Amino acid sequence: MVARRRGTVYACPDQVRRCRRERPAEPVRTCVGCRTRAAASGLLRVVAVEGILVPDPRRRYPGRGAWLHPDLGCLRLAERRRAFPRALRAAGALDTAEVHAFLT
Ligand SMILES: [Zn+2]
Repeated sequence: MVARRRGTVYACPDQVRRCRRERPAEPVRTCVGCRTRAAASGLLRVVAVEGILVPDPRRRYPGRGAWLHPDLGCLRLAERRRAFPRALRAAGALDTAEVHAFLT
């Protein structure tokens, strides 16, 4: 005799995964360097702390953040375009040394 469990359907894990609703779309951010839109998970968040630009890979800092490809080229582009003070609503120039160090 086979025991029956009424109302229960046992799907194999693969089917469960397939049936589950698709995840909500990943947030998209624009890189302040090259202005390309990318998934937030592929970008580095940076914040301004007292005039210093600080990488925030764990996204713990409160307040405004700017998003950047973890790429020196994008960092240089952003510097040249003065994108950080603009994106972060900072009054003056921001020291990007920490982000440079982070990316190298
Ligand atoms: Zn970029």
